[in-house]
Amino acid sequence: NAMTDIDRAKDAQILARIAPGPEATDRFPVSNPATGDQIAEVADMGAEDARQAIARAAAALPAWAAKTARERAAILRHWHDLILANQEALAVLLTREQGKPLIEAMGEVAYGASFVEWFAEEGKRAYGDIIPTNAAGRRLLVLRQPVGVVGAITPWNFPVGMVTRKVAPALAAGCTIVLKPAEDTPLCALALAQLARDAGIPDGVLEVVTAARAEPIARVLTDSPDVRKLSFTGSTRVGKLLMAQCADTVKKLSLELGGNAPFIVFDDADLDAAVTGAIQSKFRNAGQTCVCANRLFVQAGVAEEFAARFAAAVEALSVGDGMETGTAIGPLINAAATAKVDGLVRDAVSKGARCTLGGGAHDLGGNFYAPTILTGVDPSMEIADAEIFGPVAPILTFETEDEVIARANDTPYGLAAYFWTRDLGRAWRVAEQLEYGMIGLNEGFISSEAAPFGGVKESGIGREGSKYGLDEFLELKYFTMGGL
Ligand code: ADP
Repeated sequence: NAMTDIDRAKDAQILARIAPGPEATDRFPVSNPATGDQIAEVADMGAEDARQAIARAAAALPAWAAKTARERAAILRHWHDLILANQEALAVLLTREQGKPLIEAMGEVAYGASFVEWFAEEGKRAYGDIIPTNAAGRRLLVLRQPVGVVGAITPWNFPVGMVTRKVAPALAAGCTIVLKPAEDTPLCALALAQLARDAGIPDGVLEVVTAARAEPIARVLTDSPDVRKLSFTGSTRVGKLLMAQCADTVKKLSLELGGNAPFIVFDDADLDAAVTGAIQSKFRNAGQTCVCANRLFVQAGVAEEFAARFAAAVEALSVGDGMETGTAIGPLINAAATAKVDGLVRDAVSKGARCTLGGGAHDLGGNFYAPTILTGVDPSMEIADAEIFGPVAPILTFETEDEVIARANDTPYGLAAYFWTRDLGRAWRVAEQLEYGMIGLNEGFISSEAAPFGGVKESGIGREGSKYGLDEFLELKYFTMGGL
């Protein structure tokens, strides 16, 4: 075990602060995906706990919404500062419950904090409007008001970033929120909630409901008429279920779902930069992000050269416990995830794909999977359509621009797409024709709190981050004043 005493102390210190409430009798274990060791037990809450959390959030709403944006901003700003002051302790906790390399965890905590800072500022700019009147003696106004109590369900791949990306804009808009974090990674959410309390966020404004089973909690959130908005990040399968469940109460919805990102390398690309971008996009978080390159399309003329340089770069990535210095790829989140990735690789190989690197469990065993490159992937293989969510890179070749655009768009998903070219005309043509919510030209890393994150087609509804992200938590109210 590579943890130092300092790491352990930081971990213990933050874990001690987030011990689950004494009222919780049922607990479930949280384990380290790198070692299998149990790190902590947290409250295993049920439907009644969720109802109580909603009631507290509803009770806290009027006072929170009545605060001025500036007052809310000051508290959020304080939360942001506390997150950064605890960056290392949070990062250690993140790596231990999620597995990603510590350096990525440090980056994620900073990224997570950036949403709190951004929305603290943006909340002050939730301007209404005055419309030129349509009749004498009348005035037309538009107010923007908080939607009300928000329900949020977050995934395990970014245990800090996905939480702040929903909680910060909700709170900045004047909403209160009930958060159900992923069962694999509840600790960062609990730690963030503790820091929120320390920052002065009042009781009931941010409620965290941890549970080993998501369904009963989600059902209470979707059925409750008090919950006016649901914000979900996770799989397309669960997103569709939640969308259907929200129909009865006609909730406002934000869904950030799966992706099947094309990563296109044209023959005029800067190949070394494209390789660097591909490594960043494909292997960050061991390939477990919804914007990870899922299909590498390389134009025939440079396919061999790209494949050689890419393979050399992938071979240099070191796999290990995220706490170890130099680790580039940590474990996958759990045994089921590892089995799923391996199943996709086996299916592809059985149907004729060639494995030029990796192709199975890593020597470290457990949840570690060897970085893998597949060539000769064709549409008959499951991996051609599936969201891989692992360190596996399928390389496909193409001949023409029109062909690759058609193939890139031939998927129900539409989250992120990347392409590499130095031709300005092509840059515009391709960017405009790719049916995706986010496009990276000559960039493998596109996320920022300042930019709108989200997808089209079955990748979701709504945007997170940026000036647009606040709108998801605000309703427009048209206000006519007559008899003037
Ligand atoms: P992933 O494949 O990333 O684990 P999931 O969609 O399974 O994606 O999980 C994302 C979040 O959705 C987690 O918080 C998980 O607990 C929750 N979740 C899983 N199944 C359901 C369900 N049937 N209803 C509501 N939430 C669910």
